[in-house]
Amino acid sequence: MIISTGTASGKSLAYLVPAVTSALEGGTVLYLTPTKALAADQLRGLRELRITQVRAATFDGDTPFEERAWVRQQANYVLTNPDMLHRALLPQHARWSSFFRRLRIVVVDECHGYRGVFGSHVAQILRRLRRVCSRYGAAPVFVLASATASEPAAFGTRLTGLEMDEVTSDASPKGSTTFALWEPPLTDLRGEGGAPVRRTATAETADLLADLVLAEVRTLAFVRSRRGAETVALTARAKLEDVAFGLPRHFPHLDPRSNPMSPSETLPSPHPEAPAAQEPLGASETLTTRPPSLESPDDLEAVDLPRGPSGSVALADLPSRVAAYRAGYLSEDRRGLERSLRSGELLGLATTNALELGVDVSGLDAVLIAGWPGTRASLWQQAGRAGRSGKDALAVLVARDDPLDTYLVHHPEALFGRPVEAIVLDPDNPYVLGPHLCAAAAEIPLADDDLPLFGPTAHALADDLVEQGMLRRRPTGYFWTRRERATDLADIRGSGGAPVQVVESATGRLLGTVDEPSAHTTVHTGAVYLHQGETFLVELLDLEAGVALVSASEPDYSTFARDVTEISVLSSIRSHQLGTACLTFGEVEVTRQVVSYLKRRVQTGEMLGDEPLDLPPRTLRTRAVWWTLPASEVAALAEDGIDLGGAAHAAEHASIGLLPLFATCDRWDIGGVSTELHADTGLLTVFVYDGHEGGAGFAERGYARATDWLTATREAIASCECERGCPSCIQSPKCGNGNEPLDKAGAIRLLDTLLAPVRVA
Ligand SMILES: [Zn+2]
Ligand SMILES: [Zn+2]
Repeated sequence: MIISTGTASGKSLAYLVPAVTSALEGGTVLYLTPTKALAADQLRGLRELRITQVRAATFDGDTPFEERAWVRQQANYVLTNPDMLHRALLPQHARWSSFFRRLRIVVVDECHGYRGVFGSHVAQILRRLRRVCSRYGAAPVFVLASATASEPAAFGTRLTGLEMDEVTSDASPKGSTTFALWEPPLTDLRGEGGAPVRRTATAETADLLADLVLAEVRTLAFVRSRRGAETVALTARAKLEDVAFGLPRHFPHLDPRSNPMSPSETLPSPHPEAPAAQEPLGASETLTTRPPSLESPDDLEAVDLPRGPSGSVALADLPSRVAAYRAGYLSEDRRGLERSLRSGELLGLATTNALELGVDVSGLDAVLIAGWPGTRASLWQQAGRAGRSGKDALAVLVARDDPLDTYLVHHPEALFGRPVEAIVLDPDNPYVLGPHLCAAAAEIPLADDDLPLFGPTAHALADDLVEQGMLRRRPTGYFWTRRERATDLADIRGSGGAPVQVVESATGRLLGTVDEPSAHTTVHTGAVYLHQGETFLVELLDLEAGVALVSASEPDYSTFARDVTEISVLSSIRSHQLGTACLTFGEVEVTRQVVSYLKRRVQTGEMLGDEPLDLPPRTLRTRAVWWTLPASEVAALAEDGIDLGGAAHAAEHASIGLLPLFATCDRWDIGGVSTELHADTGLLTVFVYDGHEGGAGFAERGYARATDWLTATREAIASCECERGCPSCIQSPKCGNGNEPLDKAGAIRLLDTLLAPVRVA
């Protein structure tokens, strides 16, 4: 069973009741969550129930050795994570036999986190778990809890290999939230190729925060980096000081005598389109129940936000009532912060999403979200912070200059209608499956009958592993006979390649690791590296030594690695006609080289330069989706004077930007290549590929939803008001060709041709 509903809809209660019942009846429960923090929260909740027969315990890397035996033998409700299941519980299943024998329920909480390569690993770990259970005669029920997503049952089946029922309707009571979608205006600044630069989401968010604090609306602003959060808090304070001390000249539209959010000539135009009706499915709890037309002050009055008594605003105090929240605060600092937000002493807080964990912030009236947070699940989680005691709340998504953000502010139905974003994974990826077949064989020798559990390719792969000397074939099945631990073969949180260690040069502190392919784009020499909202500058990337040396720094710019890519087709897996075009999903070899990095000013988005880099090319075997257009169609477009290379290039950039709307991936998880004439297809071709060895399911999802995806791509380009292309539509910060050539009008024509119904001859 998979329950896929919004934040605070009561999902935990839905699995707790049967789970606790099973424990009371003599069974055991395994609870899995991606993070230790969540397991600790759950344990606290369970203990508060004060049911003595439920012996709950966490089992993770922090569990002291002397407690582990107790957990194995006595606990009937074990809370752990996939990593521990992979490395400890499954390899040592014999020691857990009494637990596995009685296992009735497996809860997979926050399972929308199991996506891409990590999700594919978890899918294979769950299959290993099912095999171990059946060895002990147990067939537990799997209960999955997920944020809202498209096709949750299909995802649940991919994750567990089991048929799933889905629960998607949410009847929990909620106050209403008015949702505003906000697009910052174009400025007079000029970027690459003379493209107009949009006002940054950070600058707009600071203005909105000041406006709301002035109206005594308790507001939380989510900003991507800690530096960004601090900038937002400082800018909002400065604006409030100007108001308090009668210097409104820096902030012409902020006038305390008028309604603080009344738009004037200087206000950027909001996009107040609202969904026509409340959708019964998906994230209905955060829907607007009233069209949030912010066109006139009267309409804002209609939003019944709790405010301070009028006239009581002590203007001079306001600046001190805005703060920035830092990750790594001590718990007493956090509690203090929670208190002052609850009491209203603090009116505005800017934070990174570090706040998601560890701080209990309720009692807010408004939430500002600077830039699309990546998934609908995160968006609703953040927006869900607003709303206290049944009062109306306000949530504002401020667009960044990115094609996906542009699309969303012009197409609210993509946010408020049925979810289109599916949680995507690819458990058949041989780079993922191979190590888990070895681990499974080490747990219990793999019989031929076991193999279908691991997917259609498992048999052939097991034979390959025998040839490579990893497994040994005997009459009774496949055996692991090597000395090393089979579980060490799978790096479940990485994506292949030896990891590069990120080390703070002054202290020698290890901040984390980045897999080698990602190191080229995220920790190259000169990169601005974000770690838990903190900013570091990479002094040196030494690939030979596998180390990136960084130092804490607060540069006023961000960096974007730019690569050039070549692609060759290895095989086609599926293909079909799309209008006159042909769409294919298949295997490719990609050679990628990071050649330079772009620097852009955080505050204004202004381009500061393109610095060359000397990094070796990297080759990757992965999966891609590509489309080709027949020569006759191409010739007709060329006759109309369209720059075909520029049109295909622009369509490629925008389609990479839009794919995360349909597959839960990041723009940086995928890449693309476009060409007027590709050697392997002999035609005009646009490729979008998974940036992970073996593929992660993103391109496959693009193939499955091609019409919707490419229609949204066309819309994103057409909705942008720039004339010839900008970062909000067709320019890409990671383009290795310096965004040359690009043809905006041509891209729209090309996509129209692609999406047109086939003409009857
Ligand atoms: Zn544009
Ligand atoms: Zn490009």
